[in-house]
Amino acid sequence: MAPHERARPLAPGSPYPARDLCSQCGLCDSRWIAYVRRACAFLEQRFEAMEEHAHGRSRDLDNEDELYFGVHQRMLTARLRQPIEGAQWTGIVSRLGVRALETGLVDAVLCVTQSADDRFTPVPILARTPEEVLSARVNKPTLSPNLKVLEQLPGSGIRRLLAIGVGCQIQALRAVQDSLPLEQLYVLGLPCVDNVSREGLQTFLESTVSSPETVVHYEFMQDFRIHFRHSDGREETVPFFGLDTPKLKDVFAPSCLSCFDYTNAGADLVVGYMGATFGRQWLTVRNDRGAELLALVEDELDTAPVTSRGDRRAAVQQGIEAYDKALKLPRWLAELFGLVIGRIGPQGLEYGRFSIDSHFTRNALWVRRNHPAMADRHIPAFARRIISRYRLPSL
Ligand code: FAD
Ligand code: SF4
Ligand code: SF4
Repeated sequence: MAPHERARPLAPGSPYPARDLCSQCGLCDSRWIAYVRRACAFLEQRFEAMEEHAHGRSRDLDNEDELYFGVHQRMLTARLRQPIEGAQWTGIVSRLGVRALETGLVDAVLCVTQSADDRFTPVPILARTPEEVLSARVNKPTLSPNLKVLEQLPGSGIRRLLAIGVGCQIQALRAVQDSLPLEQLYVLGLPCVDNVSREGLQTFLESTVSSPETVVHYEFMQDFRIHFRHSDGREETVPFFGLDTPKLKDVFAPSCLSCFDYTNAGADLVVGYMGATFGRQWLTVRNDRGAELLALVEDELDTAPVTSRGDRRAAVQQGIEAYDKALKLPRWLAELFGLVIGRIGPQGLEYGRFSIDSHFTRNALWVRRNHPAMADRHIPAFARRIISRYRLPSL
């Protein structure tokens, strides 16, 4: 009998094996908790083994694009010619899920809808119809227990699955993939950073936006501003540099302050935005299954090559120091700074590197200060190489 056939999901209220670092990925709410020791992204980092298993090789650390963005065959930027109303960006992810069902590529899509009474409380599902996939469109910017629905797989008749998820969920999924009752698994990844619990999201909204209760959508965008959409259709933007850093330093979940899987290393195809110019989405095809997924929608996309402009390094170094001192700029200076950096600052892939550098250095410092015993084995080789390019404050 395989370990998961004997195991039971964690009982409600039990401590999760990764304790305060748990990202609530949902694995431990399924019988696949049996593999938690080697599957949990916060107990053991296994990037090289995961990349080898998923893509047939690990990333080439001497190739600057692979160092940053992981194993890939191709990167491009795109927009759906007919954007999906209410999607996070143009809805490429939802359209891919719909096409995967319509073409019979898969029997179900693992995605995340929202609770009936709270737009930001995630409810993972195994969607069997295009309508269910579409009901999952738009980010739920909170920790989501996606993998708990693995518990529904046995006896469901689902043999071919498309799983949509963020890095920590995909790391755990890849580790248990061979024990799932599936013939084929496709993985559509989202880049992810700075996620929060539902309570953390409330603190973030209350300290940042004019009417937190009416926010229906937000995104940190490539123009160095956070764009909020309210339920009455009103748009509000706030410069990154105007955030209340002293208040927000503790808002991000500990899992996310110790995460180095920003670009979702284990997915077949990754759909984000940060390597594209403003308003476009950014796609990274990691392997043949990723190419197969992209082919489902490519003729519906307006595509363009990736571009890169500017030099991020001085801005990253200044940001490390400002964040560490928890400086809060006055609003007029934050607006001015945002305007200047938005005009002459990093764009395209260089914006992606700006964001990766800023988050990896911050997270390395957080791990070394808060979990010194695990820092050396937890920070992956690719992240260590990136971090070594900057001066970090003393511990
Ligand atoms: P849509 O068609 O609107 O579909 C969104 C999909 O996201 C749905 O299928 C849903 O199942 C899934 N989803 C929603 N919430 C969650 C969740 N909490 N966990 C797992 N899956 C979820 N991209 C970047 O380039 N840089 C970033 O820093 C970045 N941070 C992100 C942080 C979070 C928490 C999330 C969920 C996404 C982030 N992304 C980031 C991805 C980006 O915001 C878009 O989700 C992506 O480009 C797809 O847009 P879309 O319009 O095609 O998606
Ligand atoms: Fe379990 Fe996932 Fe939490 Fe790790 S992050 S302890 S695998 S629920
Ligand atoms: Fe998971 Fe990392 Fe995203 Fe946090 S930042 S939810 S740990 S992928």
